Amino acid sequence: PGAPILVSACLAGRACAYDGNHRARERVLALVREGRAVLVCPEAEGGLGIPRPPAETVGGDGNDVLSGRARVLTDAGDDVTPQYLAGARIAVERARAAGCRLAILKARSPSCGCGAVFDGTFSRTLREGNGVTAAALLREGIEVVTDEEL
Ligand code: SF4
Repeated sequence: PGAPILVSACLAGRACAYDGNHRARERVLALVREGRAVLVCPEAEGGLGIPRPPAETVGGDGNDVLSGRARVLTDAGDDVTPQYLAGARIAVERARAAGCRLAILKARSPSCGCGAVFDGTFSRTLREGNGVTAAALLREGIEVVTDEEL
C-alpha cells in the first residue's frame, strides 16, 4: 500500500459526528479499502459522547485554544476545551506512530476543520482559522487538507 494518511473517522464512515451520523466520502473510503487510512475522531476519543452537543471555538481558533487564549464551548456554554485538547494529542500521537505526513480532515469542524471554522457565535458564520486538532497536526509539520479540497 501507499503512504499512510490520517483521516477524520467520520469521513471513513464511522458514525461519530456530533449528530450521530457519519460523513463518508468515497475518496476516503477508497483509502480505507487500500489499507492506507489511519482513523481518528478527536472529539469522541477525547472523551465526548456520541451524539454530543455542537461546539465552537470561542475567542479565537484552534491555534488560540492550543495557546490558552481561546476555549471550546458547547452551544449551551459548557467548556469542553480539555476534551478537545486530549483529542488533539491523541491525533498527533497516532499520526506520529503510523508515520503519517498527510491528514485528510473534515472541513469546518472545531476539531478537524482547516482554513475555516465557525466563529464561536453559533450562527453558522465562518472565520479564517483551524480546528484544534488540525492546528496541532500543522504544528507537527503534518500537511492537512479538508475533504472539500479532495
Ligand atoms: Fe469527524 Fe473530526 Fe468531528 Fe470526529 S471530531 S466527528 S472525526 S469532524
